[in-house]
Amino acid sequence: MGQHGSALGSILLGLDGFEVTAAEVIDDEWRLEVQTTATAVGCVACGSQARLHARRTVRIRDLPIGGRPVVLAWRKRVWRCVEPACAARTWTEQTVAIGPRVVLTERARAEACRRVGKDAHAVAAVARDLGVGWATAMRAVRDHGQRLVDDPARLDGVTVLGLDETSFLRATPTAPTRYVTGLVDVEGGRLLDVIADRTARAVTAWLGARPRSWLPGVDTVALDPWRGYASALVAPLGHATVVVDHFHAIKLANTVVDQVRRRTQQATFGHRGRKHDPLYRIRKLLLTVAEQLTGRGRARLGVGLAAGDRFGEVAAAWQGKELLRAVYAAGDLTGARVALDRFYRWCDGVQILELSRLARTVRAWEVEILAWHRTAGCSNGPTEAINLLIAKVKRVGHGFRNFANYRLRRQVADSPHRTIARAPPRAWWRGAVRGTRTTSRRRTDSWS
Ligand SMILES: [Zn+2]
Repeated sequence: MGQHGSALGSILLGLDGFEVTAAEVIDDEWRLEVQTTATAVGCVACGSQARLHARRTVRIRDLPIGGRPVVLAWRKRVWRCVEPACAARTWTEQTVAIGPRVVLTERARAEACRRVGKDAHAVAAVARDLGVGWATAMRAVRDHGQRLVDDPARLDGVTVLGLDETSFLRATPTAPTRYVTGLVDVEGGRLLDVIADRTARAVTAWLGARPRSWLPGVDTVALDPWRGYASALVAPLGHATVVVDHFHAIKLANTVVDQVRRRTQQATFGHRGRKHDPLYRIRKLLLTVAEQLTGRGRARLGVGLAAGDRFGEVAAAWQGKELLRAVYAAGDLTGARVALDRFYRWCDGVQILELSRLARTVRAWEVEILAWHRTAGCSNGPTEAINLLIAKVKRVGHGFRNFANYRLRRQVADSPHRTIARAPPRAWWRGAVRGTRTTSRRRTDSWS
């Protein structure tokens, strides 16, 4: 590659302080020979002009170009001090773009973190695109992610704090289901942190670790109706309004509808729901909000219930769910109070075990449920969006066994990332690598 190609190649590479001296494609990978643009340096110890002593080549992987993995062969300069009295003798050049003893450039490591965190790509997929192993990609996610997570500005401006319990690991024959608590900036729609438990003690410890100035900024706490959370909040967030938000209340009601459907299914047909069972076929329609049901949906619901809900218990549970929704849909506090009484009367009247249990929970959290109408800013949208994100991260991670990795990924997903884009258009690199040798030579050296 000539001078012209080298200049273009360097623009294409876009790595500050580096220039490309040769480029070729081997085994469908770019091999770029690069060096720093520092041709004259002073001695690190005495400052007198240093002389080039030797070159040492290190290989590092960088961001892909045009979908091809890239390997840089960095011909590192070893400098020597010419001053006989100087103690420095020789030293190897260094750069912030490429850390010592790393396999990837810093920008490739940042991009790996962004893709895993923001785009929820699997670590294995990112590793494959960069041409490195899983552990290398994960280390990049951990290093760059930790920096994002540790940034104190992450917690700035939180006025509505959301607490949400999620199952982290499903129960196995030998271990119970493990839960984690997600802490959410409800207004900003950001996940703040994940705690390895759902106990009051765990939440208290987290709140205790916040800067003293942070707690007074929180004026509302939206949470899952889980007693442990409420007791944790009493002391440090005593000034805040505690709210059971729409999303969490309806989640509970939906669980009740599911429970009654399953129990009825089992009692009526003697087995778990299968594809052609009438109740199984309407399981999703039962959880759809009433006003979103189409005419056809309503008709299917009616048919399913007529065929599978002999005692009308599923229909009664569904009605209970809708009555609880009405509490949140009410225009004001008075309307909500009226709707709540209607819900209680319904539950007390139909006497269904699961629904009575739900009514007990609602009574225990009545103040917090009605408080929803006093806090205009407490929408359920962001919490729900974050739940979807969590589900996505969980799916990609194939069920994290390691809580530290899980916590990091969930946090990194909601940290601000810089997008790293290669600026030059495609035509540039075509021109830049004219005369490039494209071979299918077997790998002879060990590219890491
Ligand atoms: Zn010197």
